[in-house]
Amino acid sequence: MEQLKKTWLLQPHKRPKLLIVDDQPTNIRVLHELFREDCDVFMATSGEQAITVCLAQIPDLVLLDVVMDGVDGHEVCRRLKADPATQDIPVIFVTAKQQDSDEVLGLELGAVDFISKPINPIVVRARVRTHLTLKLQNDLLRSMALLDGLTGVANRRKFDEEISADWRQCFREQKPLSLILADVDFFKRYNDQYGHQAGDSCLRSVAQALSETVRRPYDLVARYGGEEFACLLPTTSHAGAVEIAEKMQANVRALAIEHSTSDADHVVTISLGVATVTPTGVLAFEALIDAADMQLYEAKNAGRARVASVEM
Ligand code: GH3
Ligand code: MG
Ligand code: MG
Repeated sequence: MEQLKKTWLLQPHKRPKLLIVDDQPTNIRVLHELFREDCDVFMATSGEQAITVCLAQIPDLVLLDVVMDGVDGHEVCRRLKADPATQDIPVIFVTAKQQDSDEVLGLELGAVDFISKPINPIVVRARVRTHLTLKLQNDLLRSMALLDGLTGVANRRKFDEEISADWRQCFREQKPLSLILADVDFFKRYNDQYGHQAGDSCLRSVAQALSETVRRPYDLVARYGGEEFACLLPTTSHAGAVEIAEKMQANVRALAIEHSTSDADHVVTISLGVATVTPTGVLAFEALIDAADMQLYEAKNAGRARVASVEM
């Protein structure tokens, strides 16, 4: 109980989502009453509906009736576990069946627990709380594992996951995918001049300025390595991406962090390389990274503190 509260407190924006699946509306009503205060409760009265809601809402837990007409609970569970988009959603079977063989089958299908009908409210509440806590803790650990410790933006691992997902999505939809690579100018000299601590603090400020420049929910700013950042912009045109890169350049300059030994300016600046491509079956996302990297190199060569770009 305390554990759960702590976990929930760490993610105040996140009210757990609970999906209740049962073909008997009265059963749903009882369960809904039990959880509506603590959770966002979703309901489905058939297997088909359950799968649709899972795909649309990605609930944190599913209470799944086993015996239903049409697609039954076992089949729903099988389909959820077969789809990468829904396979991490924990499932608890709610069943009047009392046979061990049913439980074995359920476990084999990937359920985390069982609750038998008729339900005992105290038991159900306790089990649901336990599994929601585990799920939210898991989510939290996962999200922490994908953040850069120094700057708080996404880390390289998250970037690697995201670029491959974005690539596939933009390929399916035949939409452009843009990538910006940004690198702090003369940063070695900055460290030499102001010290490593100041260097770290500078990186934090740059990361924040870059994050604040992008606004759309699917845009991602990540620390790509050392003093280099990457920004992924799915379904963003080349012109749109260049505009964002120019804004990033201006926003970092506007931080007005003194850098007396830079040959580019008297404040900290970044150079940026932009590349845009509509993914094809022939190319891989590595080609986009290479292209953006090449443009970054061009920007550095042309005098730094500027944007260079290419549309592939
Ligand atoms: P250029 O304008 O060509 O990019 O020159 P540069 O000096 O920025 O590039 P270089 O690759 O020579 O040096 C990058 C420096 O960034 C060296 C490294 O010590 C520093 N750096 C990398 N990661 C960190 C970090 O986490 N904290 C601090 N303070 N410095 C870092
Ligand atoms: Mg039923
Ligand atoms: Mg640099």
